[in-house]
Amino acid sequence: MNASEKIVPIAPAADDGTVSLYEVRRKIHPRAVSGRFFAWRWALIFATQLVYYGLPWLEWNARQAVLFDIGARRFYIGGLVFWPQDVVYLTVLLLIAAYALFLFTAVAGRLWCGYACPQTVYTELFMWVERRIEGDRNARIRLDAAPMGAGKLAKRAGKHAVWMALSLWTGITFVGYFTPIRELVAGLPFRLGGWETFWILFYALATYGNAGWLREQVCKYMCPYARFQSAMFDRDTLIIAYDGKRGEPRGPRSRKAGAGAQGLGDCVDCGICVQACPTGIDIRDGLQYECIGCAACIDGCNQVMDRVGYARGLIRYVSQNGLERGYDAPTMWRRAFRGRTLVYTAILAVIVAAAAVSLAGRNPLKVDVLRDRGALAREAEPGVIENVYRLQVMNTDAVARRYSIEASGLPGLAVVGVAQPVALDAEGAKLVPLRLRVAADAAAPGTHRIEFVVTALEDATVARREPSTFILPRP
Ligand code: SF4
Ligand code: SF4
Repeated sequence: MNASEKIVPIAPAADDGTVSLYEVRRKIHPRAVSGRFFAWRWALIFATQLVYYGLPWLEWNARQAVLFDIGARRFYIGGLVFWPQDVVYLTVLLLIAAYALFLFTAVAGRLWCGYACPQTVYTELFMWVERRIEGDRNARIRLDAAPMGAGKLAKRAGKHAVWMALSLWTGITFVGYFTPIRELVAGLPFRLGGWETFWILFYALATYGNAGWLREQVCKYMCPYARFQSAMFDRDTLIIAYDGKRGEPRGPRSRKAGAGAQGLGDCVDCGICVQACPTGIDIRDGLQYECIGCAACIDGCNQVMDRVGYARGLIRYVSQNGLERGYDAPTMWRRAFRGRTLVYTAILAVIVAAAAVSLAGRNPLKVDVLRDRGALAREAEPGVIENVYRLQVMNTDAVARRYSIEASGLPGLAVVGVAQPVALDAEGAKLVPLRLRVAADAAAPGTHRIEFVVTALEDATVARREPSTFILPRP
């Protein structure tokens, strides 16, 4: 267990002596707050959801712009077509995501969790629906405690209906990244395939369950990131923290006498920061692994500070060093860009640049040479030796092309048995059987290295050289 984790007491022993190791969930009714970080969070929700829901509807050259066509083993992203051979780009993408996460976490803690993680985004959306239908925190607590009646039933049914509709649309959009979304939507609800139906319902159920019911439990118990993120923190990482020096001793106070006169700090102990917290923790107890870094407590406390006329920032983004040594904001930001984060930035920049260069210079022609092991070498006619091959030629580009196939590496090496040029449709592939012939005395008996050269007639820069071998048998 890391030092920042709080010890949660397990439930006491029951009369029969059994001890429950599962802490019973206390339902959390987060209070709505507004402020700068609330605005940032919603800006990111709008941005991410605009991308998520909108992207599958975009078209590119009369096809869906972003489509992961697993059946055809092709991924389309704008003008780029990725084939299974391009799996290296997926690795690069994962590397970029991992380093970006390291970098952002080292600079400013759980930014991803607080602002962009789908669990946060959908929970926030679902809570917004809940607030619109059932009211804010106090109204929801009262509604929970009230007996079931027509009014409560109507509110509950309305909330769940909207949640389900949102979840279903999220599931349809998800599947729309793998199946053309226009056809998918046209087939709703009864003309869908079994797998499409399964994945729509699975994703919808996951959204509904995680954002509607499980909420903070996903972050607290299911997400591994919360457990190892503290390994990426150091004393200069910006975290959300309560300034105990300024806030303590906390307590309610008379408005007439100043806080100092009453021997109090700036915390009026109103509990708004706790009520606003979606994971139900008290940030005044220090950094805890349950804190997802959403900054709702900052907004809530700032509202209180404004009301009582104190300076904002009793809870704020601050580093541990900043809190203890009283750094001002520019100093803290300067220290955020320290050796460690600069190394992360440099590595990230190199990977992104290498990926960009590689993508820009990507060869849309792929060639695999397959030797025919059943007929390695034979005498085609007196004094002429022939080897048999099959070439898998793939045109990963969005335009049709014709290709010439040549071979080099032995004097007089000739390509026979194939009609040239070889034409391929856009995004087409063809298995091309062919033979190479050479005079039996062109070189010493044995295995010789040769090279196939495949070149597009329309654009000579689209070419591939693929090595292979030619066997000259002993006479
Ligand atoms: S303590 Fe503050 S930042 Fe952390 S989860 Fe709660 S409200 Fe969000
Ligand atoms: S919101 Fe601010 S003033 Fe109120 S209890 Fe929390 S830290 Fe204290």
